[in-house]
Amino acid sequence: MARLSTYHSKRNFDITSEPRGRIGKAKGKARRFVIQRHDATRLHFDLRLELEGVYKSWAVTKVPSTDPAVKRLAVEVEDHPLDYGTFEGTIPEGQYGGGTVQLWDFGTWRPQSDSRPAGDLEEGHLKFELSGKRMHGGWALVRMRDRDVRPGRRVRHNWLLIKEKDEFATPGREDALAKETTSAKTGRTLEEIATRSRKTWNSNREETPKRRVRAAAKAAKPARSKKNSSTRKTRRA
Ligand code: MN
Repeated sequence: MARLSTYHSKRNFDITSEPRGRIGKAKGKARRFVIQRHDATRLHFDLRLELEGVYKSWAVTKVPSTDPAVKRLAVEVEDHPLDYGTFEGTIPEGQYGGGTVQLWDFGTWRPQSDSRPAGDLEEGHLKFELSGKRMHGGWALVRMRDRDVRPGRRVRHNWLLIKEKDEFATPGREDALAKETTSAKTGRTLEEIATRSRKTWNSNREETPKRRVRAAAKAAKPARSKKNSSTRKTRRA
């Protein structure tokens, strides 16, 4: 089931410029997808597929491979709000996911079979088609057997992201997409995004209250916990 409580609990929205977001509604028939290139502790690619009002999310440890013989490790992470799909900027150091986020690809996706994609994900295998700027055609996500399962410990599900054999595959060229280092949305490099964010961050210091009011107005009716709503009241007062 789609939930954003983990997403919210990991972040301090007074500090990070990431969206607070909420469970969304489907816009038409096409489901959105986005891949964010994230220069955190280690550079990785965050694959997000819209499903049931959120982005199901995986951190892919290397550039997605268009060679069907190559399997990329994709670590399942918390559901993200749909508002996250347009986020490009720098998460301040010391915050969860600190580092620069670049919109590396975006577009729509659809499941290859008629079965419910949520059910396929629960069962650990989803075949889907991407129609993006850089990612095209058939792909598969396959969950690996859980290791290190101990009582009271959160299980981290590892998946494999695999390109299917089709006209968009590049057999023998594992890193065909590695040359793509700019934003698919703004054309900016990670460095350009980081520089811009640093400036914004510093010059916005004095304006923080204004930003907060704007953010509060924007988030007029989010689904929120008791704890959050009381914090909000205190802040507004
Ligand atoms: Mn990430």
